[in-house]
Amino acid sequence: MNTYWEDELAIEIIKTCDELERLVSGLKSDGKTIGVVPTMGALHEGHLSLARAAVSQTDIAIATIFLNPTQFAPNEDLTTYPEPIEADIAKLEDVGVPYLFAPSNDEMYPPGFSTSVVPPKISKRLEGEFRPTHFAGVATVVLKLLNLTQADIGFFGQKDFQQVMVIKRMIADLNVPTEIRVCPIVRESDGLALSSRNVYLSKKEREIALSLSRTLDHVEKQIRSGLRDGFEAITEMRQMLIDAGVDSIDYAILAHPNTLETNDPIELPVVALIAAFVGKTRLIDNRVIN
Ligand code: AMP
Repeated sequence: MNTYWEDELAIEIIKTCDELERLVSGLKSDGKTIGVVPTMGALHEGHLSLARAAVSQTDIAIATIFLNPTQFAPNEDLTTYPEPIEADIAKLEDVGVPYLFAPSNDEMYPPGFSTSVVPPKISKRLEGEFRPTHFAGVATVVLKLLNLTQADIGFFGQKDFQQVMVIKRMIADLNVPTEIRVCPIVRESDGLALSSRNVYLSKKEREIALSLSRTLDHVEKQIRSGLRDGFEAITEMRQMLIDAGVDSIDYAILAHPNTLETNDPIELPVVALIAAFVGKTRLIDNRVIN
């Protein structure tokens, strides 16, 4: 049941899997292409860039907002994650997204639910070392969303570089007929990568958080000027982050973009990836250098 204000909207909000499956089967029999934009809400321009891409590159864009509990570990920020649902709906309407799938936990994981995707090997590195259960949660929910929406194209952000690799590997391995399109990282004008978690940052922490993109700028410049010593580059990356005041570094590395394996001596293309805590907030950022 929709509330009175939901009935006034130009965007249709779908809350159940049954409703979504009915909608999708109608769209498919009309020959429409479907683009899906999976999110956890607290939408910003990064998410909206994906939504715009879906609106312009497919017949029907479906955004999803689901704060997926299974991708958070017990010590993580599930309970404090921002959920400004009315503002999110208004933003999606502005961008021209016609459908939002916003299911409850019970709808996605009804009593008896007990199946999970074992994510591909690539999930064990980097994020997987620090968030060992994260990618199983991501892979399972993304597979469910791709199945439910029967999307021709799924739109994901390069901000979550390893996530894109995990999803691409999963859909290839499991023969999911969805194409994955990766959209560039959207940043504030000073370079900070947009993230729903940026709202946690105090003014001082936000200043420190800028060191992630500045470190990526610096290492990119050095590599473009000919630096090939990976150990030296990484040591300098870590030092820049520490000098700026980050509280701890999960990783700051240079890797091959197709394997995430260590890239030393540096060979192009290379991806620089950082995950670090500023106060209690965990931030990630990356840069591909071609
Ligand atoms: P999330 O709500 O954090 O799960 O993100 C949903 C989607 O938005 C993922 O595909 C993210 O990679 C993407 N995304 C998040 N932040 C950005 C950003 N700053 N620029 C581009 N895409 C982003």
